[in-house]
Amino acid sequence: MQIDADHFIAGRRRPGTSGERFAVTSPATGEVLASGVLAGPEDVDEAVAAAREAFPAWSRATPAERSEALSRWADRVQARDEEFAAVESRMCGKPIRLTRGFDVPGTIDNIRFFAGAARNLEGRASAEYSGEHTSSVRREPLGVVGSVAPWNYPLQMAAWKLLPAVAAGNTVVLKPSELTPLTSLMFAEAAREAGIPDGVINVVTGTGPVAGQALVGHPDVAMVSFTGSTAVGRQIAAQAAGTVKRVHLELGGKAPFVVFDDADLEAAARGAVAGSLINAGQDCTAATRAYVQGPLYDRFVERVAELMDEVRLGPVDDPATDMGSLISSRQRDRVAGMVDAARAAGATVVRGGRAPGGGLAGGAYYEPTLVTGAAQDSAIVQQEVFGPVLVCLPFDSDDDGIRLANDTPYGLAASAWTTNVFRAGRATREIQAGCVWVNDHIPIVSEMPHGGFKASGFGKDMSVYSFDEYTNVKHVMSENTGAARKSWHDIVFTGR
Ligand code: NAD
Repeated sequence: MQIDADHFIAGRRRPGTSGERFAVTSPATGEVLASGVLAGPEDVDEAVAAAREAFPAWSRATPAERSEALSRWADRVQARDEEFAAVESRMCGKPIRLTRGFDVPGTIDNIRFFAGAARNLEGRASAEYSGEHTSSVRREPLGVVGSVAPWNYPLQMAAWKLLPAVAAGNTVVLKPSELTPLTSLMFAEAAREAGIPDGVINVVTGTGPVAGQALVGHPDVAMVSFTGSTAVGRQIAAQAAGTVKRVHLELGGKAPFVVFDDADLEAAARGAVAGSLINAGQDCTAATRAYVQGPLYDRFVERVAELMDEVRLGPVDDPATDMGSLISSRQRDRVAGMVDAARAAGATVVRGGRAPGGGLAGGAYYEPTLVTGAAQDSAIVQQEVFGPVLVCLPFDSDDDGIRLANDTPYGLAASAWTTNVFRAGRATREIQAGCVWVNDHIPIVSEMPHGGFKASGFGKDMSVYSFDEYTNVKHVMSENTGAARKSWHDIVFTGR
C-alpha cells in the first residue's frame, strides 16, 4: 500500500517547499505506507493564504448551502468507508474491527450531525431591552482556524476539528500528527469531491515544532484549536497569547473508574477491560485508575485479570484481533518504562507488563496490563500512560472514592459504577470531569459535548456547544425612534 501524503492546499495536492520527506509506517508491521512531506513555514503561509481567500465566500454561503455540502461530504466518506477503515487501521496499528465499528462510522455520524447543526446556529432572543432599540445577536465565524491534531484517532480528530469550524462558516488549516496524516488528507479530498470549495479545508503535514508552531503563531490565523498533550497545550496557549488568538485546548486525561460496593461486579469488570484497552489504551478518556470499594476489590481484580487473558492481540487486518499495536515502538517503550518503574517501586503487575513475542515481536505491541499496589502519588497513577494499562486500587468510604477520583491534575472523563441512585447522583455532581458516565465508560455521541476540566483543557468538541468555540457573538443594536436627541444624551450634555 503506497498512498500520496503530499499537502492538500486550495483543493490540490502540493509537494511543499521544504524538500524534506518522512516515511509513514504501520507500527504493527513496519510496512512503509507513504512518503510524507514535512511542511516548512512557507507551506503553512500558502495554506493560510488559501484559507483566507476562501473565507469571504464560504462565510457568506447560506446555512442551507453549507449543510448540503456537508451532507454530500458524509456520502463521499460513506462511499469509501472500507478504504478509510483499512488505512486508519494500518497507519495506527488499530484492529480493523475498531476502525470499521468506531472510527469511520463515528466520523460519518459527526458529519451528518454538523450538516444539520449548520442550519441551527442560535443566538438568544432579540428584543427591545432599552425600550428604544432593537437588540439582536449575530453569530459570526472567526476567519481562518488553525487546527492541530494528535495521532490516536486521526480521522475522528480531523472530523472534530474541521466540522464545527466549517459548519459555522470558518475556513481551516489542519495539521495532523506527522505519524498519521493519511486519513486526514483523504478526508479533505472527500470534502473537495463533495463540492466544498477549494481553500475551505487545507491540510499541511509536518512536525509540531515547525509546522505546528508556524500555524499557531501565524498573524492571519484567528483561532487555534488543539487536541494533544497537556505539555504541548501549555506551549500553544503561551504562544497564542502573542497574537491574542482564541484557543481551544483538548488535552490529556487520566480517567478514574469508581466501583462502589453495590455495583454489578461483572458489568464493572467488563467495562474496565473494554474501557482501558480500547485503542490499546491510547484514548484520552480511557479508564486508567479503577478505584474499587473494599468488599468488591479482590473479586474485581481477579475477574479483570481473567477477562484480560481473553483479549486477543494479533494482526490488525484480522477481524478476530481485539487489540492491535501501539502507535510506535517509542510509545511502547515509554509505556513499558512506566510499568517497570511502578514494579520497581513495589507495585504488583498482575497481568501483562511486557511486549509479546512470536509473530508480533516486530510490531509495537504491548500486552494488556493490570497493576495493583501502586501508590496514589506515583507516576503510574498520576500521569498519562497512554497504553493498555489499568491500575486498580481499593478504597473504603464513598468520600474516599470521590476524593481519589479527583486526585490528579486531569479532568476529562470518569465513570461511577453503582446500583444506588443517590451514589450515582453524588458521583456525577462531585467528580470533576467533562464527562461522567454511570455504569458505562467510553461511549460518545455527536449530540453531546466532549471536553475537559482542569489540566485537560477547556472548550468543547462535538455538539452545538462547539459552535461557542468557532463563532464570535456580535450584539447589533438599532435605534427605533429616529429622534436626533436621545433620552440618554441628557447624562452627557443638556444643550438644546
Ligand atoms: P502531542 O501533544 O505530542 O501532539 C499533538 C499535536 O501537536 C501533533 O500534531 C504535534 O505534531 C503537535 N505539536 C507538538 N508540539 C507542538 C508545538 N510546539 N506547537 C504546535 N504543535 C505542536 O500529542 P500526541 O502524542 O500526538 O497525542 C496524545 C495526546 O493527545 C495525549 O495526551 C492525549 O490525552 C491527548 N488527546 C486528547 C484528546 C481530548 O479530546 N482531550 C483527544 C485525543 C488525544
